[in-house]
Amino acid sequence: MMGTIMKVSLVGAELEENLGLRYIASELESRGHIVDIVPFNSEYDIPHAVKQVTGFAPQITGLSMVFTSRAREFCHLARALRDSGYTGHINAGGHFAALNCQSLLKDFQAFDSVALGEGEYILSALADNLDKPSRVHGLCYRRNNGSVEINPSTGNPDNLNALPFPKRTTFHEYFGKPIASILSSRGCWRNCAFCSINAWYKSGGGKKFRIRSVENIVAEMKELYFSYGIRIFNFQDDNFFLSNHIDALHRFEALRDELHKEGVHGIAIAIKARPDSITKESIQVLDDLGLFRVFLGVENASENGLRKLNRKCSIDHILNALRILNDFDVHIAYNLLMFEPDTVLEDVLINLRFMERHIENPFNFCRAEAYAGTGLEAKLLAEGGLLGDYFGFDYRLKDPGSEAFHQIANYAFFDRNFSDSGLHYFNMQVDFYFQLLRRFHPEVLSQTLRGTVRNFIKQTNLDTYQCLCQIYDFVAVIDPSDHSSIRRFAREMREIVDERSVELHDQGENILRWLNDAYGRRGKGVESRVEMPFQGYEPLSNRGFDSSWEFAGAGTTEAASLDLFGNTLSAIPYNVFKDRMIHQNEK
Ligand code: SF4
Repeated sequence: MMGTIMKVSLVGAELEENLGLRYIASELESRGHIVDIVPFNSEYDIPHAVKQVTGFAPQITGLSMVFTSRAREFCHLARALRDSGYTGHINAGGHFAALNCQSLLKDFQAFDSVALGEGEYILSALADNLDKPSRVHGLCYRRNNGSVEINPSTGNPDNLNALPFPKRTTFHEYFGKPIASILSSRGCWRNCAFCSINAWYKSGGGKKFRIRSVENIVAEMKELYFSYGIRIFNFQDDNFFLSNHIDALHRFEALRDELHKEGVHGIAIAIKARPDSITKESIQVLDDLGLFRVFLGVENASENGLRKLNRKCSIDHILNALRILNDFDVHIAYNLLMFEPDTVLEDVLINLRFMERHIENPFNFCRAEAYAGTGLEAKLLAEGGLLGDYFGFDYRLKDPGSEAFHQIANYAFFDRNFSDSGLHYFNMQVDFYFQLLRRFHPEVLSQTLRGTVRNFIKQTNLDTYQCLCQIYDFVAVIDPSDHSSIRRFAREMREIVDERSVELHDQGENILRWLNDAYGRRGKGVESRVEMPFQGYEPLSNRGFDSSWEFAGAGTTEAASLDLFGNTLSAIPYNVFKDRMIHQNEK
């Protein structure tokens, strides 16, 4: 079939730009194939996805099965495609599919093959050899006799610069600024015990960590900036940094200087980072670039937990990273993997203390899950502690008290932690919007609005902390085998947590409306900031500031921006704040 033009449907989550699918689409299109991207965000999308695929009638359909939590939905979709009469080749790719390839092909006849690594070259080779899958490296496939074969991989692409830029279609916007996802590297140099990302890169073969050149990244950012008007760049790298601090700093300096030279100004960037990667110097450079968000891999605050998760990172690294990032006043969000098989109540207590002392940044918490191919799965398997199946391995914490804590917390916080509109995610969103507005339109933000946002984040975190403390006190005295008392208490806690979540959510909604109103009033002067959609607040103009203009010397710009006591009435513009902070730190 070499040389035949193929039609290929690529199906996957599209809640944000799916870069994996877009990279594969570009590679296939560069070879003359025709590609259709099909959004599939939940089980409810199955009828629409089936209609779009069958309407396009591709020879190959690729399903992006990355997350274990959504794996069954993709299996249902594959079956629904077959039920609709689709006879083309169905390939599955992504972490879940690759790490469970043999089970998937044995258990689900709807699938024909699984890509074991990054999809660009595997799907291109499949398109060229659809009648001879034995020629496709890195492919697991079902032969005509029903047996499952694995073709060894030649490794994930080494030279990322050689890949065409990902196909772009539509973009989301925040405050009128289009956002694009982008990658500056692939993989990671660490080996955390719970990380399926790491396991997947290992399964794909080749180098685990690869970077694009600065020139290549700048060329793509330039195109996005000038051709599509992109102003927010969401770097999806698992860790935006390099393993060596000096190398990372030089790379960021080169990126900043090149972008400025090319006229790419006034942008905002979001990144993910390990705490031990963060240095003041590198964050300073990224701040110049427009850094407004860091998803920080805190994971656990106890040395015991960090060691068991093989984080190779100390609590000092975490504290240092939080201090530096908070000094730069960017949006920080993090997750705590509070529970792993060896967690004891003392570890839980250390994590609670950490929450108590870091209530200024939005966070979520959960258990480290045992995904296929991870060190955690291997450990549980060796110890005989692995429960469930590959659609969701399970385990029990060895310490009965900690297991009881986890069960109660997991049940009580289920919605707050895991639902799409969960309060912890929403807390991150509020800070995200605030920081984005501060980055682009600092002039519309009042100190009162800033204070309200900070207060909301802290209230939410404190509420979580307080409820978890209640759970701790219960677990500290209860007999862990008293299941009926544990169940009753978990139900009570869930009612409390859910009730408070509703109240806090309402407050957060008000803040989002307020941020939107502030954005809508941009360019309309200082007095436009005084309206607030909160009951119980009085507009600033009712508090006598108007008459103070005269007292302070009305008519001068400087006087108009000061109150009776010489304090500024508006939020400090970002650049001023930044300069002052740098100055302060240099003292
Ligand atoms: S640092 Fe992050 S991406 Fe790398 S192995 Fe650990 S969890 Fe995975």
